[in-house]
Amino acid sequence: MGNVAVVVGGGIGGLAVAIGLRRVGWEVRVVERTSVLDDAGAGISLAANGLRALDALGVGEAVREAARGQYTGGTRTPEGGWLTRMDGAVLEKAVGTPIMGIARSTLHRLLRASLPGEVLLIGSEVESVQRIDHGRVRVGCADRVLEADLVVAADGIGSTVRGLLFPTHPGPAYSGSTVLRAITEPAMDLRSDFELTWGRGAEFGHIALRDGRAEWHAVLNLPAGTRFPDPLAELRRRFRDWHDPIPALLDATRPNAVLHHDVHELSRPLPSYTLGRIALLGDAAHAMTPHLGQGACQALEDAVTLASALATEPTVEAALARYDVERRPRSQAVARAARQAGRMGQRLSHPLAVALRNTAMRLTPPGAATRMILRHHAWVPPQLN
Ligand code: FAD
Repeated sequence: MGNVAVVVGGGIGGLAVAIGLRRVGWEVRVVERTSVLDDAGAGISLAANGLRALDALGVGEAVREAARGQYTGGTRTPEGGWLTRMDGAVLEKAVGTPIMGIARSTLHRLLRASLPGEVLLIGSEVESVQRIDHGRVRVGCADRVLEADLVVAADGIGSTVRGLLFPTHPGPAYSGSTVLRAITEPAMDLRSDFELTWGRGAEFGHIALRDGRAEWHAVLNLPAGTRFPDPLAELRRRFRDWHDPIPALLDATRPNAVLHHDVHELSRPLPSYTLGRIALLGDAAHAMTPHLGQGACQALEDAVTLASALATEPTVEAALARYDVERRPRSQAVARAARQAGRMGQRLSHPLAVALRNTAMRLTPPGAATRMILRHHAWVPPQLN
C-alpha cells in the first residue's frame, strides 16, 4: 500500500493520529485552517483510556509530568453538601492512574512537539475531498491541492468532510446546554483537585492544574445562541450563593479569559466512520456532550486504533474496515452514556427530580460510582511498534 496520509484538522485528534501514523511508517501532512496553533480552550481531564493512548503514542510521560492527578474531589450541591466523593487513589489502584487535569494548550503543545514542524500546514482550509485513480484521494484546500493514499478527517464537530461523505446526515444538534469556561489567572489554594456542583439545570465544576491555577466551567440549560453582554458578571450573579470556592474562582478570572460555546453533539450516530480511503476521527465521527469528559479520550483511542490497524492489515481498505468495527460501537456507546449522564446530572431541573437524584446519589456506595467510571476508562491500546 502507498503510505502518504493527509489529516484534516490539527486539534487533539488530528495531531494524535499524525503521531500514530508516523510511528507506523506513514508520511503525514496535517492541514489546519487556523493559523494560531494553541487549541484555545480551558482545561481537559484525561482518564486512564486517554492516557494509555498517549502512552502508545509515546507522549504519555510528558503529559503526566505536565498534568495534575485528580485525587480528591467529587460531586456537591450548591449549598456545599457532598453527593459523592471520588478517591483518585482507588482509580489509580484499579487502572494505574487517577484522572489527570491539564490545560488544553499544554496538551496541544506536547502533541505538536512530537511532530516535525514541516508536518503541519497551518492557515489552510480543506474544502473538498475527491476519489481519484487507484482509490487515492485528492484533497482540495483554499490554497493548494494534495493527493493521498489515506485521508483522516479530524476536522471537529462541524466537519466539512463528514458533510461531503454523508450529505443526508443531519449533522450536530444542540444539546440544550451552553458552557462558559476559563482558567484562573493567579494560583488558587484549592482544597480539592476537582469538583462538580449540580444545581437545577446548572453545573459548576473546576479542576486544579499543576501550576496552581484552576480551570472552571459553568454549564447552563439555555436556548441556543444565548449570549451575555458581560459573561463573568452574569456568572457571578447566578453563582453568588453557591459554595466556596465557586465565587472565588470567578473572582480570580480575567473577563476576557471567559470562553462561551453552545454544546452540540452528533445525536444521530453515523452509519460508518469510513468511506473509500477516508476515515472520520474524533468529534468529526462522534461528537458527544462533555458530561463524561471522554470526547478527547475517545479521539485518542481512535488515533491509536487506526494507526495500529494500518500497521497490521494488508491493505488500507482492510485497515479502515477494522477501524470502523473496533471504534464505532465503543465510541457511540460512550456518546450515549455521556448524554445519559447529562440527563441525570447537569440537565435535570425539576426540583422533585433533582431531590430524588440527590438522595439516590447519597445512598449509592462509593464502589458502585467507581465501577461505573471504570467501564469507560478500562481500555487497553494495541501496541504500535
Ligand atoms: P477539534 O478539537 O474540534 O479539532 C478540529 C480541528 O480541525 C480544529 O483545529 C479546526 O480548526 C480544524 N478544522 C476544522 N475544519 C477544517 C477544515 N475544513 N480544514 C482544515 N482544518 C479544519 N474531552 C475529554 O476527553 N475530557 C474533557 O475533560 C473534556 N472536556 C470538555 C469540555 C467541554 C466544555 C467541551 C465542549 C468538550 C470537552 N471534551 C473533553 C471534548 C473534547 O474537547 C473534544 O472531543 C476534542 O477536543 C475533539 O478533538 P478533535 O481533534 O476531534 O476536534
